[in-house]
Amino acid sequence: MAPTAAEQTEHHQHTRKAVGLAARDDAGHLSPLAITRRSTGDDDVVIKILYCGICHSDLHALKNDWKNSRYPMIPGHEIAGEVTEVGKNVSKFKAGDRVGVGCMVNSCRSCESCDKGFENHCPGMILTYNSVDVDGTVTYGGYSSMVVVHERFVVRFPDAMPLDKGAPLLCAGITVYSPMKYHGLNVPGLHLGVLGLGGLGHVAVKFGKAFGMKVTVISSSPGKKEEALGRLGADAFIVSKDADEMKAVMSTMDGIINTVSANIPLTPLFGLLKPNGKMIMVGLPEKPIEIPPFALVATNKTLAGSIIGGMSDTQEMLDLAAKHGVTADIEVVGAEYVNTALERLAKNDVRYRFVIDIGNTLDNVAATTE
Ligand SMILES: [Zn+2]
Ligand SMILES: [Zn+2]
Repeated sequence: MAPTAAEQTEHHQHTRKAVGLAARDDAGHLSPLAITRRSTGDDDVVIKILYCGICHSDLHALKNDWKNSRYPMIPGHEIAGEVTEVGKNVSKFKAGDRVGVGCMVNSCRSCESCDKGFENHCPGMILTYNSVDVDGTVTYGGYSSMVVVHERFVVRFPDAMPLDKGAPLLCAGITVYSPMKYHGLNVPGLHLGVLGLGGLGHVAVKFGKAFGMKVTVISSSPGKKEEALGRLGADAFIVSKDADEMKAVMSTMDGIINTVSANIPLTPLFGLLKPNGKMIMVGLPEKPIEIPPFALVATNKTLAGSIIGGMSDTQEMLDLAAKHGVTADIEVVGAEYVNTALERLAKNDVRYRFVIDIGNTLDNVAATTE
C-alpha cells in the first residue's frame, strides 16, 4: 500500500530527540549533531541502534563524489539494533527483538517492482540516508542513536546471527547474495570467480562456499592469498596481473562476481568464463566500461549488473547466512574513532569492514560537544 496522506502528515511530526554523527560539508568530517526522528507511525518500528557498519559508499556520499550529497549528512546503512517500540499495526516485531535496516527505508509499495518484492528497483525507493522521505525531510542513517522505520524495511536477526558481524550483511551481504540467486550462481559444484577481495568480495566467497561451489578469488594483491585460502575458505587464488595464473584457469568459471570499483580491463576476465558464463557487476567504476563485442559474442557470455536486493531476499539472505555461519569479518570501533576509520577505509586499510559500536560509545562522544 502506498504512503497515505495521514502517514505523510504524521511523518511531519519529528518529535523524538536523537543524536548522530554528521558531516556538515564535503570535507566529510563527522561530529555529533542533535537531530529529531518522527513519532511512531502505525506501521513503524522504533529501533535503538547498537551497531552500524561503515560501507565504502558512505565515504563517497560524505565526500560528495556522486554530486548528490545533502548536508548535514548522517551516513550509515548497515544498521543493527533492538526494537524499543512498535506502531499499532505492526505484527512482525515487538519490543526487544533484534533487527536490522539496510540501504532503504521506504518505497512506493504499490508499483510492479514493489509488488514483486524488488523494492530496490522501485522508482520511489527512499534510501536510508541522503534521500528525501515522503514527508519532505532528508533521511539520516545509522551513525545515530535511533531510527524509526516502516516495518516492511526492517529485517529480523536470527538468534545465531551476531548484531556486529551481521550488520554489514545488510548492504554487502545482500549485494552479492541477490545476483548469485537470480543468475544461478548458487548451485553446488559450479565454479565461481570472485573478483576483488574487499567488503563485498569476502562475503561473496563465504556465500559461494555456503552454496557448495568451487570458489576462486581473482585479486591484484598477492598478499591476500593466504587469508583467502585460509580463513575465508576459498579453493583457489589467482593474481589478475599474472598472465600464467590467468591462463591456467581460462574457460573454467561459470560466473564471476565483479566487486571492483576501478576501471580495469575486463576482456581477460571474460576469458576465464566458460561458454554461457556470466559476469555480474556490483561495483561502480567511475568511467564507462569498455568491452570488445567479441569477448561477449563469441561464446554467449553475459554481462549483468545488480544493486542490493529486495526486502524478502534480504531476510532470506540473513537467515541463510545464520544457518551456514556466514558473517562479515569486522573491526569494531568506537564512535570517537569514526573519522580515523574513514581515513583508513579510503586507503583500503581494513579487513574487511569497520563496524561502529554505537550502543556503547556514541553517548560519550555526543557528551563531549555542546
Ligand atoms: Zn553499502
Ligand atoms: Zn514501488
